[in-house]
Amino acid sequence: SDTVLSVRELRTEFRGDRGNVRVLDDISFDVGRGRIVGLVGESGSGKSMTALSLMGLVPKPQGHVSAKSIMLDGTDLATLTPDGMRRIRGSEISMVFQEPMTSLNPVRKIWDQVGEPLAIHHGLKRRQIRDRVLEMFELVGIPEPKARLDAYPHELSGGLRQRAMIAMGLICEPKLLIADEPTTALDVTTQSQILRLMLDLRDRVGTAIIMITHDLGIIAEMCDEVNVMYAGQIVEQANVFDLFERPSHPYTRGLLASIPKAGAARVSRRMPSIPGMVPNLAKLPPGCRFGPRCGDAMPICQQRVPELVGLGQGHVAGCWLHAPQETSGQGAAP
Ligand code: SF4
Ligand code: MG
Repeated sequence: SDTVLSVRELRTEFRGDRGNVRVLDDISFDVGRGRIVGLVGESGSGKSMTALSLMGLVPKPQGHVSAKSIMLDGTDLATLTPDGMRRIRGSEISMVFQEPMTSLNPVRKIWDQVGEPLAIHHGLKRRQIRDRVLEMFELVGIPEPKARLDAYPHELSGGLRQRAMIAMGLICEPKLLIADEPTTALDVTTQSQILRLMLDLRDRVGTAIIMITHDLGIIAEMCDEVNVMYAGQIVEQANVFDLFERPSHPYTRGLLASIPKAGAARVSRRMPSIPGMVPNLAKLPPGCRFGPRCGDAMPICQQRVPELVGLGQGHVAGCWLHAPQETSGQGAAP
């Protein structure tokens, strides 16, 4: 099939003495083969938690992940044991984080770390691993790749470290690469080089990518489809053209309204501020979670949770503005 990942009703909770907090509430989305799918939203919206849930990396024992299904190319990740998940992680599905330094061991040579997934998943000999890392360094455009193999992480620039991490993410030819704010810690020039590299890898290697970002400029440049997240839910889902041409959830409109016009520096295209804050997930407002910040709120919005409504061509939004048949029941005769 041409769907690599199909997530249905992913739900992640943290269980503690003072009760349970549901940090992801019925997340459902698809990633097509060779597609780049964005997860966008403010911090605290659940983007990174979605990634950790898919990777089987939600902290235990407080964290609890469940789903109707998480199909990765025919395998339901939701049914795997921790051991089964370990076999998939780093080989079939891998992840690149914001700050490579934190995921690298400072006292191990870079080739040894980048090649580690091959040792774990394929049991290759060190000579073979080193050769393969060299190939990957060439693929991700690390200059003088042979000379860099024996470098330690601190001897590489931030941009080269991120290229090395992308090499590590791709070394087992995963079906899916999750990139969580992969360029946020980098300067503007290096940011665009890394993004261009990822687009290029998608085109040459065909890797499907989930791109997590708070930067709508990155969404516009990189993504085919977009999921807008708010307070642990997906509130709008659309292809990238529809999202920018016909944003349908007031939250999405708010995000887009405050993007500076083309030509402005990327740094100013960071997540714009919408008045108010993402709600405390332990004390959600009744009805629509965006209600307290929404300029379009209606009485029903505080009474009932809006469901996702189809707007055509795979475009969906979870907002009462788009469910007129429901709202009309509020007063008018049927
Ligand atoms: Fe605003 Fe109501 Fe739509 Fe929520 S459901 S985003 S409060 S209009
Ligand atoms: Mg995050």
